[in-house]
Amino acid sequence: MPELPEVEIAARRLRNGLAGARVAAAAAPGVVTMRTFDPPLDALVGRAVSDVRRAGKMPIVEFGDLALLVHLMSAGRLGVFEGRASPRDRRVRLRIALEDGRELRLREFGTQQRAWAKLLPASEVADDESVATLGPEAWPAPPLDEFAALVRQPHHLHPLLRDQRTIAGIGRSWVDEILWTARLSPFRQGSELDDKAVAALHRACDEVIGGALEHYERIVGDSLPDKAPMPLRVHARQGEPCPRCETTLEAVFFKDHVTTYCPQEQTGGRVLKDRRLSRLLR
Ligand SMILES: [Zn+2]
Repeated sequence: MPELPEVEIAARRLRNGLAGARVAAAAAPGVVTMRTFDPPLDALVGRAVSDVRRAGKMPIVEFGDLALLVHLMSAGRLGVFEGRASPRDRRVRLRIALEDGRELRLREFGTQQRAWAKLLPASEVADDESVATLGPEAWPAPPLDEFAALVRQPHHLHPLLRDQRTIAGIGRSWVDEILWTARLSPFRQGSELDDKAVAALHRACDEVIGGALEHYERIVGDSLPDKAPMPLRVHARQGEPCPRCETTLEAVFFKDHVTTYCPQEQTGGRVLKDRRLSRLLR
């Protein structure tokens, strides 16, 4: 699942690689991919890519005064390829053929079609529901006062930080790294945090996301590979020693994700109940 650091590095590489490239043709083989029909995709033909940026975890490709807003969901990837996609490649949801022979493709792995795109006047992107409802970007983190107001809510920190309406860009992987870095339990209530804890969480956002971006800047070439190795230290590493204190990392399993934490440093030595197990035993 691409989160802020992955989408940011992909946008940076696409911006460099695509600037000025002109569109020869555009089509959406994914039948439910396009969430807009006016303007039609054909309106891109003859236009040049003017910018690639992102809002939270969503890439935005600009073609002058038109913009393609993309939601990758959990399995979508946006990338540039040499040549044209095979019509038999079922992963291709959207393809924008460029005059120079390359192709910008939105592909999705797995059988579900969940990734989507909207072609909008560039001036309307900020007002689109998916963008307008985003909280401030998690990186660079908003000023401490603003950040404190965002996170001091009566919700567990793990879902709170992943809620794009609270703060934009953090998902299931990086949230574990941020909470571990701040030495905070994923099950602490945001409203219970004292000033010191809020400051630690604020620092951790910049440190973890900024650190991931520096890592990607070093290792990613012209484009982000589909399965870019994420420099994660604790997420999904339950059973391994904590990189800081060597206590065995524990995890709580949910239906569709896992929360990994260090019991020594984050939960006062307590091993939290496995939600999946406790549901089965109830
Ligand atoms: Zn530890």
